[in-house]
Amino acid sequence: MTREALLTRAPEPFTAPCVHCGRTTTAPVVVGEMTRAGGPPMVQYACPRDAARYGAGPSPEDEIG
Ligand SMILES: [Zn+2]
Repeated sequence: MTREALLTRAPEPFTAPCVHCGRTTTAPVVVGEMTRAGGPPMVQYACPRDAARYGAGPSPEDEIG
């Protein structure tokens, strides 16, 4: 490995705005798709904290049993 390789900046992580709180998250979770007329569907993301609200994974409200 060269010294230059260590000094180059790491690529920007993929970020997306959360559909619930609106904050940009570096670990977006796909929670749905919004179909748009005359265009490709827009993927909706949520931050890991809010992803459970949209059915992506267990939430505290889930009943166990
Ligand atoms: Zn959020």
